[in-house]
Amino acid sequence: MANTHQTIMTNKRRTKIVATLGPATSSYEQIKGIIESGVNVCRLNFSHGKHEDVKVLVETIRKIDSELGLHTSLLADLQGPKIRVGEMENNGVMLETGATIKMTSTKCVGNAERIYISYLEMPRDVKPGEFVLMDDGKLQLQVVETNQVDEVILKVIHGGILSSNKGVNLPNTKISQPCLTEKDLKDLDFALSLNIDWIGLSFVRSARDIIELKHIISSQNKHARVVAKIEKPEAVAELNDIIKVTDAVMVARGDLGVEIPMQNVPLIQKEIIKKCIEHAKPVIIATQMMESMITNISPTRAEVTDVANAVMDGADAVMLSGETSVGKHPNEVIKAMAKIIDKIESDYDELYQRDKMPEKNQERFITDSICFNACRLSARVNANAIITMTHSGYTAFKISSQRPKAKIFVFSGNKKLLSMMSLVWGVETFYYDKMVSTDHTIADIKYILKKNGHVQEGDLIINTASMPIEDKGNTNMLKLSYIE
Ligand code: PGA
Ligand code: MN
Repeated sequence: MANTHQTIMTNKRRTKIVATLGPATSSYEQIKGIIESGVNVCRLNFSHGKHEDVKVLVETIRKIDSELGLHTSLLADLQGPKIRVGEMENNGVMLETGATIKMTSTKCVGNAERIYISYLEMPRDVKPGEFVLMDDGKLQLQVVETNQVDEVILKVIHGGILSSNKGVNLPNTKISQPCLTEKDLKDLDFALSLNIDWIGLSFVRSARDIIELKHIISSQNKHARVVAKIEKPEAVAELNDIIKVTDAVMVARGDLGVEIPMQNVPLIQKEIIKKCIEHAKPVIIATQMMESMITNISPTRAEVTDVANAVMDGADAVMLSGETSVGKHPNEVIKAMAKIIDKIESDYDELYQRDKMPEKNQERFITDSICFNACRLSARVNANAIITMTHSGYTAFKISSQRPKAKIFVFSGNKKLLSMMSLVWGVETFYYDKMVSTDHTIADIKYILKKNGHVQEGDLIINTASMPIEDKGNTNMLKLSYIE
């Protein structure tokens, strides 16, 4: 039988794990280790690292995938208009509370009087009274005056040591820089040349930023999907429009918690998850989930509860940054996260079966209704699996968004789709390119799943399909049957 020449492995967890790669996870052994521990998506952070290194990482992951029979997803994270200070004297300078300092767009080594900022338009964009936050908000300054050309005078409200290249947030300023910087455009071209599945865009401010990115991707005839990182107040205000146009969302709590009052983040996180599930757009919860494990061997109780809550709310994925990129225990952090996910998924029934009846007047009403009822039926009969064939991924996203308790097995002849869908809640992907008849395909797929141990004799399964089978993209049929 075709397509069974290699063992088909999948990762059984429903909530996916995204791990950022870095010096601690760059060798073949290290990456294989975290993938075997449960990573579904590798995030390549374009804020750090060279293109040559990224290329090697991508080749390494694809090699591991073909050895293990997996479809690990790749996420290229573009830096966006991230603002930083320049080099500082002695690698760090004390800014005293109450002092006055100058920020300049002319390159210099910074000291307690004068600091370089990588944001040339700053003197034109800021207004007196606006806040300038540095190093994740640890240092707080306020604009006193600007010469509108190249210098801004600031007063230090909360001082501290400022070291080289620290990030700067201007939560009140309307920033004129485009969302895709020159560096991002180069990084994007490179990521597209490697056929990376997902492109993350930082500091998105409006739906237009996403539309522009998608336009560039499609004009290069590429199929990469887009993750909108929500980390600016403007993006929170435009959330509905952004969710409509993007393919996925990241709750980027690191910068978000500096740009808006930190106590506002938990409710926004919950609201974003809820809206993303309603719109069948995958959502990733990011930053500081297991932060203490950068150095410690086990997480804090607060971190365990944070991960568990994101899983209970229905996030598609939970993300690790420093924990896996520079941390001491990349494998242990993945295993600890996986244990938390497993516990919630096995004991928290409210996670499942989120019925949202499709609207009557929509474009894909037939397909949507089939997906909706496949999930309803799976709950009604306690089915073991829902199996869908897809060429665009549409039915996989739709079925997943209902969070069925039944497993979601997605078969596609579109190879590029398989790793892309590894980010999506509950989705396990398989390559399948035979096209005989719907009846034959369903029988064949059942055989493959049973042979590889994904289903057992007596399991009740649901197939969605299109009839006739050549009618790609129009799922219009539902079948309920036993595995024999
Ligand atoms: P970053 O994005 O790690 O690229 O800054 C995530 C965040 O801000 O939380
Ligand atoms: Mn960020």
